[in-house]
Amino acid sequence: MRAPYDVVIVGGGMVGCAAAALLARDVPGLRLMLLDAGPLPDWDPRADVDLRVSAVSEASRRILDRAGSWPAIAAGRLGPYRRMIVWDGADRPGGRTNLVFDCAELGQPVLGHIIENRLMRAALVEALSRAGVEMRFDAALESLDIGPDQVELGLAQGGRIRTRLVAGMDGAGSPVRGLAGLKVLGANYGQEALVAHVRFSVDHGEVARQRFLETGPLALLPLGDGRVSIVWSTDPDTAQDLRRCPEDAFLERLTDASQEALGAAVGVGPRAGFPLRWQHAPSYARPRVVLAGDAAHAVHPLAGQGVNLGFLDAAVLAEVLGPGLSAGRDPGDLSLLRRYERRRKGENVLAMQSFTGLNRLFSNGSGALSALRRAGLAAVSGTPALRRAFMRRAMGLAGDLPGVAVGDPP
Ligand SMILES: Cc1cc2nc3c(=O)[nH]c(=O)nc-3n(C[C@H](O)[C@H](O)[C@H](O)COP(=O)(O)OP(=O)(O)OC[C@H]3O[C@@H](n4cnc5c(N)ncnc54)[C@H](O)[C@@H]3O)c2cc1C
Repeated sequence: MRAPYDVVIVGGGMVGCAAAALLARDVPGLRLMLLDAGPLPDWDPRADVDLRVSAVSEASRRILDRAGSWPAIAAGRLGPYRRMIVWDGADRPGGRTNLVFDCAELGQPVLGHIIENRLMRAALVEALSRAGVEMRFDAALESLDIGPDQVELGLAQGGRIRTRLVAGMDGAGSPVRGLAGLKVLGANYGQEALVAHVRFSVDHGEVARQRFLETGPLALLPLGDGRVSIVWSTDPDTAQDLRRCPEDAFLERLTDASQEALGAAVGVGPRAGFPLRWQHAPSYARPRVVLAGDAAHAVHPLAGQGVNLGFLDAAVLAEVLGPGLSAGRDPGDLSLLRRYERRRKGENVLAMQSFTGLNRLFSNGSGALSALRRAGLAAVSGTPALRRAFMRRAMGLAGDLPGVAVGDPP
């Protein structure tokens, strides 16, 4: 008996929700279900800005638009950034080399937006409801029985679901990946990211800033309400200390670490820490199973690219599966899934290696490396073509891109 679903997406995070919305839009009549272990995501405009925010690229904005969620996100709360300034922690404020990226150089209105993860998920779920996609929250995958023609999913709450393809978008610890026997490589960065929203004495001016310190990068991301969301990656002991120390001491250390780029830090909300790890699945697919988002790759947050890479996965998967399904192909066919994997793996590996390399290069106090860094920053800074190439990459507008990311009509 034919499985009642063509595709079941496990994981209703930002990536799973985006993939579901794109597939529902591109493949009329698709028998699709999304399930997530957590509760239905919501977003309340009266609540304070949530701690988990992401720098969202222009390519991702286009993907979210195609997924039908951008109008609700734009009507919610976001912080556009039009410039980005990067500098080396070893430099003194007076003599430092600033690498400046400016959207005007590419004729774009913005480089990207800082958006609450929660708002993106809620807006995507709203789009999925409008599209009539079947969703189940508080439904955790517990087992997978992978047969030649179908996969049977067992839920922790009881009940079984049969589908032709299961898509694991269930995060870095991906139960789908483990249950399907797909391997993952990875290692700790030996760093923890401390996250908080901070008020500084000087307006951020819609500029994203990043200082590379010997202990790890400090990002200062502009929120729509005038505050700055900080992502301060440092060794775990320092991170714990920074999380627990009294507010005055924290503000003083942050003012110092940011080299007063925004004057003094004058107020901070709740502080949270996230241990950092890189991870990559050597294979994103096997017959009837595919992985995307953090389930396939997790990167250092220093370039703010994790979910942006995941959105590109979602868009390429929809671009590959859409025509395949419309032509009557089996979505669980490995040759179709490998087409998606070939397009995304190289891009994700390149991104991961660049971020890991950059983190190593900058998290090093050697005088020779410091000179090399300064020379590198000065070279990129002084070469417009190189600067524009970096900007296009960061905006998700370079590489092997899905049509939706380059603005192709649906
Ligand atoms: C400090 C920090 C800052 C970051 N900043 C940025 C940034 O600025 N820009 C950027 O692009 N990225 C950033 N990232 C990375 C980004 O947060 C992740 O890449 C992104 O959240 C991954 O999304 P996802 O949907 O793949 O996975 P997740 O968000 O992990 O979602 C997975 C979903 O799967 C569900 N799930 C898990 N197990 C099961 C199960 N058994 N059954 C059913 N459902 C299940 C979970 O409930 C969850 O909803 C940052 C990360 C960190 C740690």
